[in-house]
Amino acid sequence: MTQRHAPVKPLWFCAACAHGWPCTQARVELAADYGPGRLLALDMADLLREATADLTRLGAPPEPMYFHVRFLGWIRNPAR
Ligand SMILES: [Zn+2]
Repeated sequence: MTQRHAPVKPLWFCAACAHGWPCTQARVELAADYGPGRLLALDMADLLREATADLTRLGAPPEPMYFHVRFLGWIRNPAR
């Protein structure tokens, strides 16, 4: 059975491959699920906020620029 490349909260690693979420495969799947338009960027911005809050609460606040790129920087070119 294939595990979906979904985030494991509140640590935000990938359930399937254990990379930081969204991993490369999750990005491809998200881009395919959402298709063109701005909704993916809006939802990813919400998830970025949620992940930042989770990790900050756990005492491991993420580096803001790194997290911004990880959650939002790939959206224009998901397969990169
Ligand atoms: Zn993954």
